[in-house]
Amino acid sequence: MPTAYRNYVDGEWIESRAGETFEVRNPADTGDIVGEFQASTSADTDAAVEAAVGAQTEWATTPGPERGNVLAETARILEEQRDELTETLAREEGKTLDEAGGEVQRAIDIFCYYAEKARDLGGTVKSPSGTDTELYTKREPLGTVALITPWNYPIAIPAWKLAPALAAGNTAVLKPASAAPTVARKLLGALDDAGLPDGVANYVTGSGSEVGGTLASHEDIDGVSFTGSTAVGTGVAQAAADDLTRVQCEMGGKNPTVVMPSADVAEAVDIVGAGAFGVTGQACTACSRAIVHEDVYDEFVAGIVDYAASIEIGPGLENPDMGPHVTQSELESTLEYVDIATEDGANLETGGRQPEGRAYEDGHYVEPAVVSGVTSDMRIAQEEVFGPVLAVLKVDSFEAGVDVANDVEYGLSASIVTQDLSEAHRFTEEIESGVAKVNEKTTGLELHVPFGGYKQSSTDTYREQGDAGLDFFTSTKTVYMN
Ligand code: NAP
Repeated sequence: MPTAYRNYVDGEWIESRAGETFEVRNPADTGDIVGEFQASTSADTDAAVEAAVGAQTEWATTPGPERGNVLAETARILEEQRDELTETLAREEGKTLDEAGGEVQRAIDIFCYYAEKARDLGGTVKSPSGTDTELYTKREPLGTVALITPWNYPIAIPAWKLAPALAAGNTAVLKPASAAPTVARKLLGALDDAGLPDGVANYVTGSGSEVGGTLASHEDIDGVSFTGSTAVGTGVAQAAADDLTRVQCEMGGKNPTVVMPSADVAEAVDIVGAGAFGVTGQACTACSRAIVHEDVYDEFVAGIVDYAASIEIGPGLENPDMGPHVTQSELESTLEYVDIATEDGANLETGGRQPEGRAYEDGHYVEPAVVSGVTSDMRIAQEEVFGPVLAVLKVDSFEAGVDVANDVEYGLSASIVTQDLSEAHRFTEEIESGVAKVNEKTTGLELHVPFGGYKQSSTDTYREQGDAGLDFFTSTKTVYMN
């Protein structure tokens, strides 16, 4: 019998009132049911919001250091469960053990980081000199927030929303992605074990439109923090706008790496390959376009084809180089994009098909693909694939490289490989992207620096992570005390 997981509402583990459930299966072995989850309704979601609203005043007035203690204890419990969490993450989402272990560590680090932040949230004193007036600012919690998260970082993204929300004194309802809700459920278990008061954090599983839609338009929700696709995020932002609810949407990407003639081509191949094929290309910051100067184009294509062809594919739990896609529909979408690319005139250099053999029959596997001869007007150069497919485009100058890099509706992460310092600086100035990197892969970011996108990658008002991660979850009050 698969484990049956319940919602977490007002400190209780409860079933949906409708009594319906859905299954989550191992993407490397679809016969393996990871768990059964509540297919919750709007009424279940309303009950979670009511619990969070009810708990808000007491949590907001709990001293910051006490809130910080609960977060620190949560980090300690997650640390104890590190191996189990890593295996569960690999089993439900398909990441390799190395990738899953890195993500679990990130969730632990996030809770440690915001445990410290909770201790010194205060504000600043700005008294005008020579007056009797004391003038200061206070940072106050926003209230009750909805957190809607995707499946591709199923514990790190819930952690990087929950930890700052709770540190700042908000209460929250988390709606995890239906494809991978198990590790988020375990995160709520750790918060419960750490002594979080009832109702402060709540967890409701179910369909995006039913549970997510109810949260996005809920009149008692003071802020909606969403991470996911641009199509869904746009709808969430519109639903929240009806009530003037504060909203933060971090969304898709079509991230480029520009490769210049001064680059060490072998190094450029490693940088692009790691960015494009790590976590099966299922990262919002994954490199999906290599924009390569004509002087090094042929050498780069030969190198990246070898790189992709040598990637070992297998079940995440066996810790190969690359795991499967999370679901059959994500696999089909990737295969379709490879067809679209070749129909539009690009050359499929390697991969882009399901690997053959008994070992691959029960999982959503795809061979990492390189398509060359891509031009910027092709769909493969414009649309987010969210799989291990790299489009290679040829340019004849730095200026053309930046133009092509900017010629998409997204702007999340971008990098350049060059030994020319002035090109490096010009790139960071001219690229339309929330993250700009030099001689680094597009993926990966330290947790203490702000993260977010430009253009259609983000609502771009608030950043996540670091100090900036607290801004969304707080309001600033200016006080004059005479
Ligand atoms: P998604 O389909 O947009 O889903 C994201 C979340 O929204 C899920 O919890 C989903 O629930 C929920 N949802 C679906 N329909 C909804 C609706 N009508 N109203 C409210 N919520 C709704 O994205 P995904 O496939 O999980 O994740 C992949 C996408 O996330 C990619 O585009 C990727 O680039 C993006 N991403 C962005 C970042 C970033 O920081 N910029 C980070 C990671 C991922 P269900 O799962 O139940 O459908």
